[in-house]
Amino acid sequence: MSAQAMRWRVVMEFKTTTPLHIGSGETQTAARQDRPGSPKKTYEYKAVARSVSGPYVPATGFKGSFRTFCLGADAELAGLMGEEGCAGAFEFGDAEPLGVPQHPARYANVAIDRVTRTASDQRLAHTEAVAAGACFEMEVLIRRPEEQVAKSLAAALKAFADGTPRLGAGTGDGWGAILWTKARLDYIDRDELAKVLGSSPEGPPPLPWTRQSESSSLDGEGEGKEGPTIKFDIEFSGAFLIQSHPDEPKEKEPIGSVPEGLTSSSLRGALRAQAERILRTLHGDSGACQIGDPCAPLRAVEDLDQRPLTAADVDQMSAAASSKRRPPLCRACRLFGATGWRSPLRIRVRRDGDPPVVKQQQFVAIDRFTGGVAGKKLFATSRPWRPRFHVSLGLDLGRLAGAGASDWGLGLLALVLRDLAEGDVALGWGASKGYGVVKPFSFDFQTGVFKDVDLDTQVKSLSERR
Ligand SMILES: [Zn+2]
Repeated sequence: MSAQAMRWRVVMEFKTTTPLHIGSGETQTAARQDRPGSPKKTYEYKAVARSVSGPYVPATGFKGSFRTFCLGADAELAGLMGEEGCAGAFEFGDAEPLGVPQHPARYANVAIDRVTRTASDQRLAHTEAVAAGACFEMEVLIRRPEEQVAKSLAAALKAFADGTPRLGAGTGDGWGAILWTKARLDYIDRDELAKVLGSSPEGPPPLPWTRQSESSSLDGEGEGKEGPTIKFDIEFSGAFLIQSHPDEPKEKEPIGSVPEGLTSSSLRGALRAQAERILRTLHGDSGACQIGDPCAPLRAVEDLDQRPLTAADVDQMSAAASSKRRPPLCRACRLFGATGWRSPLRIRVRRDGDPPVVKQQQFVAIDRFTGGVAGKKLFATSRPWRPRFHVSLGLDLGRLAGAGASDWGLGLLALVLRDLAEGDVALGWGASKGYGVVKPFSFDFQTGVFKDVDLDTQVKSLSERR
């Protein structure tokens, strides 16, 4: 029966387990209102790609990652995928949304000014993303009659999706994780096709696909496949607030936003800022790049070895070989990521238990002229009270070594985590009002990934100049 097959297809269903942003390349504008009657404010966001059925994953968004996977896992299959500009044996379709189309959410990324430690107005960016749990269906046509080729492709697609692949943007912050839920293999029988074609003189008939096999995956989180993880819980000793709208809260303006949880990117930003402070303590201003003047992007991973760690190292190098002068890529960028370099550190944050109690707090602005309360300037915030979060930091040791951070990366991470555990790293908005203070917790550096590492040597290596 299947010996008569002339065409195969794999139909795969997958779902997102974290937010997914595959951009359309467009920036759009939206308006919001703090409260009824207040003027509308506009903000820009990076939009997701949409088809007629809603946010989707264009074939190219999937195929690129899958091809890279095949090159490492199944060379024969990779050969069948074709080259750039040359069609292969497989034709990837777009992954279209399944079920009720989801309305994508907009996520605020707040860049913290490293000097003043406040959110800076111009640096708020919004990114639209499909939430976790969105389902997609993708079809891959196989232009070959062999059953074995079809089966290898189906197996490779499942293995790829089992390895917690990441699609789209923000993968360093855990975005874009997918999990396959269903896969099936169909074929068209030569005789069936002849029959259909013979009976249907007008227009192209529906193709007579026959199901060969179907499988569904166990619904797991897909964690623990990407190297060691460091897990700990953090609890706030009071209120905690992350701004969810694009305007920096000003003392005299209502905030009125819905309190959000701690996000991976806000935790990453705070940890990175702390790492930069440590590096500047050790090396002066050139120890880490500045937010307005980040390290030059990395063009190719091979260039990592050629890039010095600090600007002072550049001067040293230039004396030796002025022709090989390269801009620095600082240690903070190597550990926490830079343009062209995905961080070896994957950060995931999840709220612990029930939603926390939300308390209201009134702020009163004093009129500087009369000394009285300025009635119009009263504002209130509602913020979660003492929320708790589970944090898991996944560490890709291969990438850490690739970043040239084997001899200091864990040392820097240990110093940052120690500061966090001691309550020295404030998170979210309103540090000056006592918001976002992490309750000190104990962290054991004798376990897990730190167990076999000589942290003293690592910290020493951190302060060395190259
Ligand atoms: Zn940098």
